[in-house]
Amino acid sequence: MTRRCLLRQKRVLGSATYGLMLLCAVGRVTIMLLFEGRTPMLTNDNLPPTELMKASDLAHHLHPFTDHDRLDAAQLRIITEAEGVYIYDSTGKSYLDAMSGLWCTNIGYGRASVADAVARQMQKLPYYNTFFKTAHPPVVALSETLARLTPEGITRFFYTSGGSEANDTVLRLVRTYWAALGQPQKQIVIARHNAYHGSSYASASLGGMQAMHAQGGLPIPGIHHIDQPYWFDEGGELDPETFGLQRARALETAIERLGEDRIAAFIAEPVQGAGGVIIPPESYWPEIQRICDAHDILLIADEVICGFGRLGAWFGAQHYGIRPDIIVLAKGLTSGYLPLGAVGVSEAVAQGLGKGGEFFHGYTYSGHPAASAAALEVIAIMEREDLVTRVKESRAPRFAEKFAGLAAHPLVGEASTIGLLGKLELVPDKQGSRRRFDPSLGVGVLARDHCFNGGLIMRAIRDSLVAAPPLIITDEEMDKLVARAWQALDQTLADLKKQGVWPAAS
Ligand code: PLP
Repeated sequence: MTRRCLLRQKRVLGSATYGLMLLCAVGRVTIMLLFEGRTPMLTNDNLPPTELMKASDLAHHLHPFTDHDRLDAAQLRIITEAEGVYIYDSTGKSYLDAMSGLWCTNIGYGRASVADAVARQMQKLPYYNTFFKTAHPPVVALSETLARLTPEGITRFFYTSGGSEANDTVLRLVRTYWAALGQPQKQIVIARHNAYHGSSYASASLGGMQAMHAQGGLPIPGIHHIDQPYWFDEGGELDPETFGLQRARALETAIERLGEDRIAAFIAEPVQGAGGVIIPPESYWPEIQRICDAHDILLIADEVICGFGRLGAWFGAQHYGIRPDIIVLAKGLTSGYLPLGAVGVSEAVAQGLGKGGEFFHGYTYSGHPAASAAALEVIAIMEREDLVTRVKESRAPRFAEKFAGLAAHPLVGEASTIGLLGKLELVPDKQGSRRRFDPSLGVGVLARDHCFNGGLIMRAIRDSLVAAPPLIITDEEMDKLVARAWQALDQTLADLKKQGVWPAAS
């Protein structure tokens, strides 16, 4: 029998103070009544004490990508405010958010004009669907705007609530497209190991994350994974460009082995994000484009991270000079201010799909008016402030220079950037062997935790630390980012010395 806990708070009328009363009883469920059984209307002036919010959260909230058995109040942060590149927690501690939330708040936090645009739209038309021959002004304007900005040839957009739904849409769409063209046997989508395309069944199957595939019977049939262009870990003795060509040619080998007549598409992120900011060698994408041109398969660019200026071009495909038939958008589309995703397709794909009659696919929130209004204002800000040019001409070169300085740290085997994506490979021995720490040491997470404690949000992916700061980051903020990262690396090194695992035995 588990505990039944009634944790109640009493608000002192007219003040922001919370009095507390803790009632515990034995029963089958745990219920926290932090808000006295009423649905609260919270502002930052009437927040309950942090420890109570944490207790309530631990009792009732299942977090994404979290081991709940190991989550405790000491680790939990309650984020209450954000402005520019900084987020603030409920204790008042500030963090420089070098991850733009989850790679999404490209325009930074606190843009009132986005809130205003959404509020105006909410008052006029908070919701209507886009099924049954219906549209509304924000979705009309957004589609035309995206057709203007996205890679040449992409003309039509299907909307979702995020990247996972968008990639689910992609899988259904490409299979339906080929069936409409009389080739229903073209079903297989080729994707890559260690890619991330989302968390739903189809998108997680397209992704190549081993840990995700180990849960819930993934991947679904009809998806084939090839190796990634990750030179640092997998390049061996090859130079990066030869390795890049070799990994691109794995696509051609797979097409030949599985049969071109069975393959619908190849999907990839221009730069793998969640897989660890894996910047492909320059030789990779031109060869992929050649192979897709030589064979009758669709090229899908998942631009969920690389889109909207992250690489110093509006889209990653433009940075690499590739011509996708389909692109996948989310995150930067609204800078995370509201949930929205989209699939953009070429005219040829749209026309082909149309030959099959109705495409039985859609979401209640496809093209949501308020989310579309947010996207329009975010894009308008990016254009007014010329953020994409700013990234290309000033932010990215400075980020590259500053990050390169971190390569001098004894723990860093490689510091690489592209646009405003950066990665530090942490190694036990800098002298070129690209050897890794024993994974059980959890060096990446250790370094990440030191970053957090020092007021910097970076993300650990295996034993690398990655960053994707907002596109508006200033020189001074970049200096702070790098200084805090260096300090976290120093603290990590001190821990490893204390544990007796540094210097590493060769
Ligand atoms: N595609 C890529 C490249 C991503 O990085 C992500 C999320 O990180 C997704 C798709 C899934 O997007 P969402 O979390 O909005 O479903």
